[in-house]
Amino acid sequence: MNLKAKNTMYFFTIEPYVYVDIKKNKCLLYNTINNEKIITSNKFVVNMLKIIKRFSIAQKISLYEIKKYNLLDFFSNVKKYYIGDLLIIDNLSNKPPVIQRKKIENKYDATFLRLGDVKVDILSIVKEVNLFFLNECKSKCDICTTAYTQTTHCYNKKFKKVDYEKIVDFLRPIVKLKRSVKFNFVTNDLSNLDLLNFLKITSNSIHQKEIIVNIDNYNQDIVKKIFDNKLISSLKILINRTNKIPTNMELVNSLEFKQSVKYNLLVENDTDLTYYKKIMNKFKISNYNFTPIYNKQNYQFFKNNVFLNDENIFKNKLSMKQILFNQNFNVFNMGKLYILQNGDVLTNLNKKKIGNIKTSKINDIVYNELVAGKAWRLLRQNIVPCKSCLLCNVCPPVSNYELTIGRNDLCQVNV
Ligand code: SF4
Ligand code: SF4
Repeated sequence: MNLKAKNTMYFFTIEPYVYVDIKKNKCLLYNTINNEKIITSNKFVVNMLKIIKRFSIAQKISLYEIKKYNLLDFFSNVKKYYIGDLLIIDNLSNKPPVIQRKKIENKYDATFLRLGDVKVDILSIVKEVNLFFLNECKSKCDICTTAYTQTTHCYNKKFKKVDYEKIVDFLRPIVKLKRSVKFNFVTNDLSNLDLLNFLKITSNSIHQKEIIVNIDNYNQDIVKKIFDNKLISSLKILINRTNKIPTNMELVNSLEFKQSVKYNLLVENDTDLTYYKKIMNKFKISNYNFTPIYNKQNYQFFKNNVFLNDENIFKNKLSMKQILFNQNFNVFNMGKLYILQNGDVLTNLNKKKIGNIKTSKINDIVYNELVAGKAWRLLRQNIVPCKSCLLCNVCPPVSNYELTIGRNDLCQVNV
């Protein structure tokens, strides 16, 4: 770092694309363009940053202070990582530069949402609708009572059903918007008549439709008919370690529409991983993903494979927009609705219902969740211990794993 004469005064400025947070007398400076970061607990820097954050103007600092408070390395990194600058103050212009800080204001009423300058229909927030068509199930998966709170999955439950046409009516305002909402139909019985009728009467109005079913409940004839009649666009097969995989897998793999089939493999330990990889290789399947499932006995597996660390939190570059989004919404839950056969509507299966299609309007449900939602607005900055953590707005949002395990900080970080 090339510092000039002894008495030189500087303005310390921060670039507008740098995210700054201060917690417990530590601060994070994160460059959203190149993914570089500085974390420091130097008191002098923390105090300067507190003022910069509050007033958005550059702070004066002398060469004497830079040396006295051991800030040479800090400022050298600030420059190296394009996080900010030290500008020499000449006698003619000693007015501090203003630091542009981006703010997005969210405003909404029961009809519209305004994000900055953009105004959108409040229903356009809905991105995914998960409908459950469940019967009593003959399969005996040992994850039946645990998987559905962690991933989109069937479970064994008999509901007092509402008429499926009432569900269609409830969803009509969303369907009318003609946007790309994804509809998932979760079932444990492909011959479920409500499901088949629902698919038929929405065949021209809903386009992105996926059936999610366990491999043991697969029925080749029904699936063929459904695809032949263009009632769905894709099929997701769930597989867990208690399933009898090979026979049905051969059937699925012989399907004419097999390009539209994907697999969600539920993993509880390392042995599962090895086993599934073998099976997928055997059937030459590449369209699959692994979903870890917590079963109360595999905490160590989660610690090794799911817990966050410094490396994976900063693995992908985060834009300022994404960080601002994290301060307002939970990106995992945002825009997702779950509708059970009794008409209950939820925004997360780990949370209580937020309405029922018989008594609520979809606009009201979306508006209430936006204003005070327990899922769409589930933010790390509001929960213990994350709210005191420097990384709370750059860390991935709270997922179903935290809710299932009952611990918000599934992480091993050193900040
Ligand atoms: S197929 Fe689904 S509903 Fe049936 S036992 Fe397995 S997890 Fe439960
Ligand atoms: S304490 Fe919370 S915010 Fe901090 S790293 Fe862990 S999970 Fe993320």
